[in-house]
Amino acid sequence: MQIPAERLTNLAQTIFQRAGAEDAAAAQVAEKLIEANLFGHDSHGVGMVPAYVLGIEQKELKPGGGLSVEHDRGSFLLVNGNADFGQVIAKAAMELAIERAKELGVVVLGLKNSYHIGRVGAWAEMGAAAGFISIHYVNVLSLNSVVAPYGGSDSRFSTNPYCTALPAGRGADPIVLDMATSRVAMGKVRVAHNKGEKMMPDALIDNAGNPTDDPSVMFAEPKGALRSMGLHKGYGLAVICEALAGAFTGGGVFGSEGVPQGRIVNNMLAILIDPDAFGQRAAFDAEVEEFTAWVKASPPAPGVEEVMLPGDPERKSKVERLANGIPIDDTTFEDLLAAGEAVGLDRGEAMRIVGN
Ligand code: NAD
Repeated sequence: MQIPAERLTNLAQTIFQRAGAEDAAAAQVAEKLIEANLFGHDSHGVGMVPAYVLGIEQKELKPGGGLSVEHDRGSFLLVNGNADFGQVIAKAAMELAIERAKELGVVVLGLKNSYHIGRVGAWAEMGAAAGFISIHYVNVLSLNSVVAPYGGSDSRFSTNPYCTALPAGRGADPIVLDMATSRVAMGKVRVAHNKGEKMMPDALIDNAGNPTDDPSVMFAEPKGALRSMGLHKGYGLAVICEALAGAFTGGGVFGSEGVPQGRIVNNMLAILIDPDAFGQRAAFDAEVEEFTAWVKASPPAPGVEEVMLPGDPERKSKVERLANGIPIDDTTFEDLLAAGEAVGLDRGEAMRIVGN
Protein backbone atom coordinates (compact mmCIF):
# COMPACT_ATOMS: atom_id res chain seq x y z
CA MET A 1 0.00 0.00 0.00
CA GLN A 2 1.36 3.46 -0.91
CA ILE A 3 -0.25 6.24 1.13
CA PRO A 4 0.34 9.96 0.47
CA ALA A 5 2.27 11.58 3.34
CA GLU A 6 -0.46 14.13 4.02
CA ARG A 7 -3.16 11.49 4.50
CA LEU A 8 -0.94 9.37 6.72
CA THR A 9 -0.17 12.47 8.80
CA ASN A 10 -3.91 13.15 9.16
CA LEU A 11 -4.49 9.59 10.35
CA ALA A 12 -1.69 9.68 12.93
CA GLN A 13 -2.79 13.13 14.10
CA THR A 14 -6.40 12.00 14.54
CA ILE A 15 -5.33 8.94 16.54
CA PHE A 16 -3.23 11.09 18.89
CA GLN A 17 -6.09 13.58 19.31
CA ARG A 18 -8.48 10.75 20.18
CA ALA A 19 -5.86 9.42 22.61
CA GLY A 20 -6.06 12.72 24.48
CA ALA A 21 -3.24 14.81 23.01
CA GLU A 22 -3.84 18.49 22.38
CA ASP A 23 -4.32 19.42 18.73
CA ALA A 24 -0.97 21.19 18.33
CA ALA A 25 0.97 18.34 19.95
CA ALA A 26 -0.88 15.70 17.93
CA ALA A 27 -0.05 17.58 14.72
CA GLN A 28 3.59 18.03 15.67
CA VAL A 29 4.16 14.37 16.58
CA ALA A 30 2.35 13.11 13.47
CA GLU A 31 4.32 15.43 11.21
CA LYS A 32 7.67 14.26 12.63
CA LEU A 33 6.79 10.56 12.45
CA ILE A 34 5.72 10.83 8.83
CA GLU A 35 8.84 12.89 8.08
CA ALA A 36 10.85 9.86 9.28
CA ASN A 37 8.91 7.71 6.78
CA LEU A 38 9.57 10.24 4.03
CA PHE A 39 13.27 10.12 4.88
CA GLY A 40 13.19 6.34 4.52
CA HIS A 41 13.36 5.46 8.23
CA ASP A 42 10.17 3.45 8.59
CA SER A 43 11.40 2.05 11.91
CA HIS A 44 10.90 5.58 13.35
CA GLY A 45 7.80 6.54 11.39
CA VAL A 46 4.06 6.01 11.61
CA GLY A 47 4.70 2.45 12.82
CA MET A 48 5.50 4.00 16.23
CA VAL A 49 1.89 5.23 16.64
CA PRO A 50 0.64 2.03 18.35
CA ALA A 51 3.57 2.12 20.82
CA TYR A 52 2.83 5.75 21.66
CA VAL A 53 -0.91 5.02 22.12
CA LEU A 54 0.00 2.18 24.46
CA GLY A 55 2.41 4.51 26.25
CA ILE A 56 -0.43 7.00 26.87
CA GLU A 57 -2.76 4.24 28.03
CA GLN A 58 -0.16 2.95 30.48
CA LYS A 59 0.58 6.50 31.64
CA GLU A 60 4.22 6.17 30.68
CA LEU A 61 3.84 8.80 27.97
CA LYS A 62 2.30 11.93 29.45
CA PRO A 63 0.98 14.33 26.81
CA GLY A 64 1.00 17.89 28.13
CA GLY A 65 3.71 17.12 30.71
CA GLY A 66 5.68 19.99 29.19
CA LEU A 67 9.32 20.93 29.37
CA SER A 68 10.80 22.30 32.59
CA VAL A 69 14.17 23.99 32.90
CA GLU A 70 16.24 22.48 35.72
CA HIS A 71 19.51 24.36 35.26
CA ASP A 72 20.13 27.54 33.34
CA ARG A 73 23.67 28.81 33.61
CA GLY A 74 25.05 30.70 30.62
CA SER A 75 25.92 28.16 27.96
CA PHE A 76 24.62 25.28 30.06
CA LEU A 77 20.97 24.34 29.88
CA LEU A 78 19.42 21.26 31.47
CA VAL A 79 15.76 20.53 30.74
CA ASN A 80 13.38 17.80 31.85
CA GLY A 81 10.90 16.40 29.32
CA ASN A 82 8.52 15.09 32.02
CA ALA A 83 7.72 12.03 29.86
CA ASP A 84 5.87 14.19 27.33
CA PHE A 85 5.99 13.44 23.57
CA GLY A 86 9.66 13.55 22.53
CA GLN A 87 8.78 15.34 19.32
CA VAL A 88 7.24 18.22 21.30
CA ILE A 89 9.93 18.27 23.98
CA ALA A 90 12.97 17.99 21.70
CA LYS A 91 11.64 20.81 19.52
CA ALA A 92 11.03 23.07 22.52
CA ALA A 93 14.46 22.20 23.97
CA MET A 94 16.18 22.93 20.65
CA GLU A 95 14.35 26.26 20.38
CA LEU A 96 15.71 27.26 23.80
CA ALA A 97 19.20 26.07 22.87
CA ILE A 98 19.20 27.90 19.53
CA GLU A 99 18.10 31.13 21.16
CA ARG A 100 20.93 30.80 23.70
CA ALA A 101 23.50 29.82 21.05
CA LYS A 102 22.63 32.96 19.11
CA GLU A 103 23.61 34.98 22.20
CA LEU A 104 26.67 33.05 23.34
CA GLY A 105 27.97 31.17 20.31
CA VAL A 106 27.87 27.79 22.02
CA VAL A 107 25.36 25.82 24.08
CA VAL A 108 25.53 22.54 25.93
CA LEU A 109 21.97 21.26 26.24
CA GLY A 110 21.05 18.34 28.46
CA LEU A 111 17.61 16.88 27.82
CA LYS A 112 16.47 14.20 30.20
CA ASN A 113 13.35 12.14 30.76
CA SER A 114 11.69 12.67 27.41
CA TYR A 115 9.51 10.05 25.77
CA HIS A 116 10.89 8.73 22.43
CA ILE A 117 12.31 11.62 20.36
CA GLY A 118 12.19 9.64 17.09
CA ARG A 119 14.67 10.43 14.34
CA VAL A 120 17.48 12.33 16.04
CA GLY A 121 18.44 13.93 12.72
CA ALA A 122 15.31 16.08 12.94
CA TRP A 123 16.76 17.94 15.93
CA ALA A 124 20.24 18.25 14.46
CA GLU A 125 18.68 19.61 11.25
CA MET A 126 16.90 22.23 13.35
CA GLY A 127 20.25 23.32 14.82
CA ALA A 128 21.90 23.36 11.40
CA ALA A 129 19.01 25.29 9.82
CA ALA A 130 19.57 27.96 12.47
CA GLY A 131 23.22 28.08 11.39
CA PHE A 132 24.89 25.92 14.06
CA ILE A 133 27.05 22.82 14.07
CA SER A 134 24.69 20.51 15.98
CA ILE A 135 26.13 17.48 17.82
CA HIS A 136 23.88 14.95 19.57
CA TYR A 137 24.46 11.95 21.83
CA VAL A 138 21.37 9.99 22.85
CA ASN A 139 20.67 7.03 25.11
CA VAL A 140 17.51 4.95 25.18
CA LEU A 141 16.05 3.51 28.37
CA SER A 142 13.30 0.92 28.37
CA LEU A 143 12.34 -2.25 30.16
CA ASN A 144 14.76 -4.34 28.13
CA SER A 145 18.23 -3.65 26.85
CA VAL A 146 18.80 -4.96 23.30
CA VAL A 147 22.47 -4.43 22.35
CA ALA A 148 25.41 -6.52 23.57
CA PRO A 149 28.77 -4.99 24.48
CA TYR A 150 31.61 -5.96 22.13
CA GLY A 151 32.79 -9.38 23.27
CA GLY A 152 29.75 -9.87 25.54
CA SER A 153 27.05 -12.52 25.19
CA ASP A 154 23.93 -10.69 26.36
CA SER A 155 22.37 -7.23 25.95
CA ARG A 156 23.37 -4.42 28.29
CA PHE A 157 22.16 -1.21 26.64
CA SER A 158 20.11 -0.01 23.68
CA THR A 159 20.60 1.37 20.16
CA ASN A 160 22.04 4.71 21.43
CA PRO A 161 22.00 7.01 18.40
CA TYR A 162 24.66 9.59 17.56
CA CYS A 163 24.11 12.49 15.18
CA THR A 164 25.98 15.53 13.91
CA ALA A 165 24.63 18.03 11.37
CA LEU A 166 26.77 20.66 9.69
CA PRO A 167 25.00 23.82 8.57
CA ALA A 168 24.81 24.29 4.85
CA GLY A 169 27.06 26.95 3.46
CA ARG A 170 26.08 28.84 0.29
CA GLY A 171 22.71 27.21 -0.19
CA ALA A 172 24.01 23.64 -0.08
CA ASP A 173 22.25 20.86 1.81
CA PRO A 174 23.42 20.21 5.38
CA ILE A 175 25.58 17.16 6.05
CA VAL A 176 23.61 14.99 8.49
CA LEU A 177 25.21 11.90 9.99
CA ASP A 178 22.38 10.31 11.97
CA MET A 179 22.79 6.73 13.07
CA ALA A 180 22.01 4.09 15.65
CA THR A 181 25.20 2.66 17.16
CA SER A 182 23.79 -0.84 16.74
CA ARG A 183 24.41 -2.66 13.44
CA VAL A 184 20.68 -2.39 12.67
CA ALA A 185 17.64 -0.87 14.33
CA MET A 186 15.48 -3.20 16.44
CA GLY A 187 12.53 -2.37 14.15
CA LYS A 188 14.35 -4.02 11.23
CA VAL A 189 14.78 -7.24 13.22
CA ARG A 190 11.05 -7.28 13.97
CA VAL A 191 10.21 -6.83 10.28
CA ALA A 192 12.52 -9.70 9.27
CA HIS A 193 11.06 -11.89 12.03
CA ASN A 194 7.48 -11.15 10.92
CA LYS A 195 8.35 -11.93 7.31
CA GLY A 196 10.28 -15.09 8.19
CA GLU A 197 13.42 -13.64 6.61
CA LYS A 198 17.05 -13.94 7.70
CA MET A 199 19.19 -10.99 8.83
CA MET A 200 22.71 -10.15 7.64
CA PRO A 201 25.31 -12.35 9.38
CA ASP A 202 26.89 -9.65 11.58
CA ALA A 203 23.84 -8.06 13.22
CA LEU A 204 22.85 -10.51 15.97
CA ILE A 205 24.12 -13.00 18.53
CA ASP A 206 22.13 -15.83 20.09
CA ASN A 207 21.76 -16.21 23.84
CA ALA A 208 25.14 -17.96 24.08
CA GLY A 209 26.96 -15.14 22.28
CA ASN A 210 27.28 -16.91 18.91
CA PRO A 211 26.76 -14.83 15.73
CA THR A 212 23.47 -15.66 14.03
CA ASP A 213 21.31 -14.42 11.16
CA ASP A 214 18.12 -15.68 12.83
CA PRO A 215 15.92 -12.76 13.99
CA SER A 216 13.82 -15.05 16.20
CA VAL A 217 16.62 -14.98 18.84
CA MET A 218 15.25 -11.56 19.85
CA PHE A 219 11.76 -12.94 20.45
CA ALA A 220 12.51 -16.10 22.46
CA GLU A 221 13.64 -16.46 26.08
CA PRO A 222 16.43 -16.16 27.01
CA LYS A 223 16.92 -13.51 24.33
CA GLY A 224 19.88 -12.96 22.04
CA ALA A 225 21.13 -9.46 21.34
CA LEU A 226 21.90 -6.94 18.62
CA ARG A 227 25.55 -6.25 17.88
CA SER A 228 27.10 -2.81 17.67
CA MET A 229 27.93 -1.36 14.26
CA GLY A 230 31.65 -1.25 13.48
CA LEU A 231 32.66 -3.90 16.04
CA HIS A 232 34.47 -2.39 19.06
CA LYS A 233 34.27 1.15 17.61
CA GLY A 234 30.50 1.36 17.47
CA TYR A 235 30.36 -0.26 20.89
CA GLY A 236 32.71 2.43 22.20
CA LEU A 237 30.51 5.17 20.75
CA ALA A 238 27.45 3.58 22.37
CA VAL A 239 29.22 3.70 25.74
CA ILE A 240 29.99 7.39 25.20
CA CYS A 241 26.32 8.03 24.29
CA GLU A 242 25.13 6.25 27.45
CA ALA A 243 27.56 8.25 29.60
CA LEU A 244 26.97 11.69 28.05
CA ALA A 245 23.22 11.44 27.40
CA GLY A 246 22.32 9.33 30.43
CA ALA A 247 24.81 9.92 33.25
CA PHE A 248 25.88 13.51 32.48
CA THR A 249 22.31 14.81 32.15
CA GLY A 250 21.07 12.80 35.15
CA GLY A 251 18.57 11.03 32.90
CA GLY A 252 19.80 7.58 33.89
CA VAL A 253 21.76 4.65 32.52
CA PHE A 254 21.27 0.91 32.26
CA GLY A 255 22.65 -0.96 35.26
CA SER A 256 21.78 1.83 37.67
CA GLU A 257 19.05 1.56 40.28
CA GLY A 258 16.02 3.81 39.91
CA VAL A 259 16.08 3.86 36.13
CA PRO A 260 12.50 4.17 34.78
CA GLN A 261 11.26 0.80 33.59
CA GLY A 262 8.92 -0.07 30.77
CA ARG A 263 9.12 3.28 28.97
CA ILE A 264 10.85 4.51 25.85
CA VAL A 265 12.81 7.24 27.55
CA ASN A 266 15.35 9.22 25.56
CA ASN A 267 18.01 11.41 27.11
CA MET A 268 20.13 13.62 24.91
CA LEU A 269 23.24 15.73 25.21
CA ALA A 270 23.32 18.32 22.42
CA ILE A 271 26.13 20.76 21.70
CA LEU A 272 25.48 23.69 19.38
CA ILE A 273 28.47 25.60 18.06
CA ASP A 274 28.55 28.77 15.95
CA PRO A 275 30.72 27.88 12.94
CA ASP A 276 31.88 31.50 12.89
CA ALA A 277 33.21 31.23 16.47
CA PHE A 278 36.81 31.58 15.26
CA GLY A 279 35.84 34.15 12.64
CA GLN A 280 36.34 31.67 9.84
CA ARG A 281 32.82 30.83 8.68
CA ALA A 282 33.56 31.61 5.04
CA ALA A 283 36.69 29.42 5.05
CA PHE A 284 34.83 26.63 6.85
CA ASP A 285 32.05 26.67 4.26
CA ALA A 286 34.55 26.78 1.40
CA GLU A 287 36.62 23.89 2.72
CA VAL A 288 33.62 21.71 3.50
CA GLU A 289 32.40 22.39 -0.03
CA GLU A 290 35.81 21.57 -1.53
CA PHE A 291 36.23 18.44 0.54
CA THR A 292 32.76 17.08 -0.18
CA ALA A 293 33.13 17.75 -3.92
CA TRP A 294 36.47 15.88 -3.81
CA VAL A 295 34.94 12.96 -1.94
CA LYS A 296 31.92 12.73 -4.23
CA ALA A 297 34.18 12.72 -7.28
CA SER A 298 35.43 9.24 -6.33
CA PRO A 299 34.41 6.93 -9.17
CA PRO A 300 31.54 4.76 -7.91
CA ALA A 301 32.50 1.17 -7.11
CA PRO A 302 30.93 -1.57 -9.24
CA GLY A 303 27.18 -1.76 -8.62
CA VAL A 304 27.06 1.66 -6.94
CA GLU A 305 25.17 4.51 -8.60
CA GLU A 306 26.89 7.46 -6.91
CA VAL A 307 29.04 8.41 -3.95
CA MET A 308 26.79 10.18 -1.47
CA LEU A 309 27.26 12.23 1.68
CA PRO A 310 25.52 11.55 5.00
CA GLY A 311 22.02 12.99 4.65
CA ASP A 312 21.82 12.40 0.88
CA PRO A 313 19.97 9.04 1.05
CA GLU A 314 17.26 10.58 3.25
CA ARG A 315 16.78 13.53 0.87
CA LYS A 316 16.55 11.20 -2.11
CA SER A 317 13.98 9.07 -0.30
CA LYS A 318 11.90 12.16 0.49
CA VAL A 319 11.72 13.20 -3.16
CA GLU A 320 10.66 9.70 -4.20
CA ARG A 321 8.12 9.18 -1.40
CA LEU A 322 6.55 12.61 -1.79
CA ALA A 323 5.95 11.70 -5.43
CA ASN A 324 4.80 8.09 -4.96
CA GLY A 325 3.47 7.88 -1.41
CA ILE A 326 4.80 6.06 1.63
CA PRO A 327 4.85 2.27 1.43
CA ILE A 328 3.03 0.74 4.40
CA ASP A 329 3.06 -3.02 4.89
CA ASP A 330 -0.13 -4.85 5.89
CA THR A 331 0.98 -5.59 9.46
CA THR A 332 1.89 -1.95 10.15
CA PHE A 333 -1.40 -0.75 8.65
CA GLU A 334 -3.43 -3.27 10.64
CA ASP A 335 -1.60 -2.21 13.84
CA LEU A 336 -2.39 1.43 13.03
CA LEU A 337 -6.09 0.67 12.56
CA ALA A 338 -6.12 -1.28 15.83
CA ALA A 339 -4.42 1.61 17.65
CA GLY A 340 -7.10 3.92 16.23
CA GLU A 341 -9.88 1.59 17.37
CA ALA A 342 -8.39 1.45 20.86
CA VAL A 343 -8.95 5.23 21.15
CA GLY A 344 -12.38 5.26 19.49
CA LEU A 345 -11.52 5.85 15.83
CA ASP A 346 -13.51 3.27 13.88
CA ARG A 347 -12.00 1.57 10.87
CA GLY A 348 -14.38 3.19 8.38
CA GLU A 349 -13.36 6.64 9.52
CA ALA A 350 -9.68 5.71 9.48
CA MET A 351 -10.02 4.36 5.93
CA ARG A 352 -11.76 7.57 4.83
CA ILE A 353 -8.88 9.62 6.27
CA VAL A 354 -6.32 7.67 4.26
CA GLY A 355 -8.59 7.86 1.22
CA ASN A 356 -9.31 4.14 0.77
P1 NAD B 1 21.15 4.38 8.50
O1 NAD B 1 22.11 3.27 8.74
O2 NAD B 1 20.11 4.22 7.47
O3 NAD B 1 21.98 5.71 8.14
C1 NAD B 1 23.01 6.18 8.97
C2 NAD B 1 23.68 7.39 8.37
O4 NAD B 1 24.41 6.97 7.22
C3 NAD B 1 22.73 8.47 7.87
O5 NAD B 1 23.27 9.72 8.21
C4 NAD B 1 22.71 8.31 6.35
O6 NAD B 1 22.50 9.54 5.68
C5 NAD B 1 24.08 7.78 6.10
N1 NAD B 1 24.15 6.93 4.91
C6 NAD B 1 23.41 5.83 4.65
N2 NAD B 1 23.76 5.29 3.47
C7 NAD B 1 24.74 6.08 2.96
C8 NAD B 1 25.52 6.07 1.77
N3 NAD B 1 25.36 5.12 0.85
N4 NAD B 1 26.42 7.05 1.58
C9 NAD B 1 26.59 8.02 2.51
N5 NAD B 1 25.90 8.09 3.65
C10 NAD B 1 24.99 7.13 3.89
O7 NAD B 1 20.45 4.82 9.89
P2 NAD B 1 20.20 3.93 11.20
O8 NAD B 1 21.46 3.74 11.95
O9 NAD B 1 19.40 2.74 10.83
O10 NAD B 1 19.27 4.93 12.05
C11 NAD B 1 17.94 5.20 11.62
C12 NAD B 1 17.28 6.27 12.44
O11 NAD B 1 16.95 5.74 13.72
C13 NAD B 1 18.10 7.52 12.72
O12 NAD B 1 17.31 8.64 12.35
C14 NAD B 1 18.29 7.53 14.24
O13 NAD B 1 18.31 8.82 14.83
C15 NAD B 1 17.08 6.78 14.68
N6 NAD B 1 17.22 6.19 16.02
C16 NAD B 1 16.50 6.73 17.04
C17 NAD B 1 16.56 6.18 18.30
C18 NAD B 1 15.78 6.77 19.44
O14 NAD B 1 15.75 6.17 20.51
N7 NAD B 1 15.15 7.91 19.31
C19 NAD B 1 17.35 5.04 18.53
C20 NAD B 1 18.08 4.51 17.44
C21 NAD B 1 18.00 5.08 16.19
